[in-house]
Parts: sequence; C-alpha cells; structure tokens
Amino acid sequence: MLELEDVHAGYGGAEVLHGVSLRVDEGEIVTLVGSNGAGKTTTLGVIGGGVRVRAGCVRFAGVDLRRRRPEHRAGLGIGQVPEGRRLFPTLPVRDNLLLGAFAHRKKTKETRALLEEVLELFPILRERERADAGTLSGGEAQQLAIGRALMSRPRLILLDEPSLGLAPRMVQRVFDALSALSARGVAVLVAEQNAMQALSTAERGYVLERGRVTMHDAARVLREEPQIVATYLGGV
Ligand code: ATP
Repeated sequence: MLELEDVHAGYGGAEVLHGVSLRVDEGEIVTLVGSNGAGKTTTLGVIGGGVRVRAGCVRFAGVDLRRRRPEHRAGLGIGQVPEGRRLFPTLPVRDNLLLGAFAHRKKTKETRALLEEVLELFPILRERERADAGTLSGGEAQQLAIGRALMSRPRLILLDEPSLGLAPRMVQRVFDALSALSARGVAVLVAEQNAMQALSTAERGYVLERGRVTMHDAARVLREEPQIVATYLGGV
C-alpha cells in the first residue's frame, strides 16, 4: 500500500536520507527504529508531506505522492500523529477530535459515527470528553492525538515516537490501540526509539542508521538480532 524506493531527502544543503526503501502493506504494523537523528522523523515527513523528496519514489495506494500537494495527504487516506501531539489545549477533547474530521465535513451522521468509534477505542477520551485537552495526562493526550488522526478515516497512520515521555502502563495502552487499529485494517507506520516495545507490537521493522536502512525483517527476528539487542535493547 505504501512504498518508498531509494528516497533521498534533506533540509537545505544537507541530505539526511540517502536512499531509503521501505514498504507497508494493508493493515500491517511496521516500525522504524533508530537512534536520535537517524532520520525517522524525516522519513515520516516524506510520506506525510512536510519534507520534499529530492530523488526516488513514494507511492501510496497506487498514487505517486511526489505529484500530490502535502495538504492533500489526509484526503488520500494518510493520518498523522506528530511528535509532540500538537493538540489544542484550550479546547475540549471532543472538539479536538472533531477538528480531525475533514474541515469540509460538517457534523454529519458519518462524523458522529466516527466519533463514537474513536470513543469506543479510547474509553478514557469518553470519560474526559468535555475536559480541555490541556488537562490530560501525557498518555491520555497521546490517545487523543491518535483519536484525532483517526477522525479522517485513514488507511495508513503515521506515528512519531508515541511512547515519548509516557509511563510504561500508558505506553502499553498506546501500543494496544495500534494493534486494535491494525485489526480494523488500518496500516500503521510507527517511528520509535523504544525499540523493545515497538518490535513487540509490530509485524516488521526497519532499522535506520544515519539516513540508511541497515536491516529489515520480521519484528520477531529483529528482536533476537544480537546487534539490535546490543544497540537498541539495552544489551539485555
Ligand atoms: P529524533 O528521534 O531525534 O527525532 P530522528 O531519527 O527522527 O531523530 P530526524 O529528526 O529525521 O531524526 O533528523 C535527522 C537529521 O536531520 C538530524 O541530523 C537533524 O539534525 C536533521 N534535521 C531534522 N530536521 C531538520 C530541519 N528542520 N532542518 C535542518 N535539519 C534537520
């Protein structure tokens, strides 16, 4: 469904991605692991539209994304949960969710049904529906950010470091939600420094080092790979 082929991208004079290739199939959870500055966020940016591709191909559902404007990615079925979540803290949870629905879609039946689905997936958001987003805990806010992305009914959702700053219990909850999404047929591409958690949830993984994919395999294979264990899993 999503395919990157030999993608080069960067900022100003600096090239950050030096030929990245990866693939995400329908309903699959794929993780991008790598240390700080490896190029994970840049890779997501290439797909989400924030970073321009200098060379190579990015295709989504048969569409060449290089030919589509960044603001049209949501319409194509790509949902994004950026690092730092970017919620509206002074608006209630419910309004944050509704803002995730397409701007042109009014409060239609479909939006209400979608909202109901999201509240079902994240019961804590139902409990806090009327509370301002700024009053949520880190884990709750992360669930809200994912819920908001779901309001555009994406076929693929991109997440950047969803576990950042969360307590272990909340990290688990967020990753459980990703599994639930994939069970509903939504493909998930998640960039994570928390490689252990990401590789426990994902089906496949790509290891990114200094802008290049150095390894890719089934997540259970990567979890056993000595080099990965030593570098990313704390040498257990
Ligand atoms: P992190 O986990 O720290 O976000 P990452 O793997 O996501 O790391 P990127 O954010 O993609 O890595 O960064 C890759 C490289 O690109 C880094 O060297 C970074 O300094 C550089 N970079 C990222 N964003 C910009 C930008 N807006 N302008 C210039 N350089 C940037």
